[in-house]
Amino acid sequence: MTSAIRELYQEVILDHNRSPQNFRVMENADRSVEGFNPLCGDHYTVFLKMNGETIEDVSFSGAGCAISKASASVMTSMVKGKTRAEAEQLFSDFHNLVRGKHDPDEEMDRWARMAPFPGVSEFPARVKCASLPWHTLKAAVEMKKEIVTTE
Ligand code: ZN
Repeated sequence: MTSAIRELYQEVILDHNRSPQNFRVMENADRSVEGFNPLCGDHYTVFLKMNGETIEDVSFSGAGCAISKASASVMTSMVKGKTRAEAEQLFSDFHNLVRGKHDPDEEMDRWARMAPFPGVSEFPARVKCASLPWHTLKAAVEMKKEIVTTE
């Protein structure tokens, strides 16, 4: 990855931390799932409002490091208005991305929206931070669990 792209990613992390998207408690949520990453101390709740198969609204509350917060912010803006199946596809795309199974220089347009996470694969401990909001969302979409931990 070039240093210009790396700087872009860092810029995106900072932006999302300054003004995170969908960072609020949702009073009328259909579902809420708590996600906890004991390794770092990231602790969020993801709120979901479904309309049939479509994610009508999604938000998150809680606290954690810059990477986890930026990831939750990016994730919520990506999945809002998507169907359950589309959200699950994004989840698996994201998974490949943070595990370094994707060349971020190839499809910059698409992955720039998921920035800053490609660089995260170089830091295994940070993968958990970036993945926590996604795992929590997945549990909420599938309605399987009420608490998710990365350990
Ligand atoms: Zn973290």
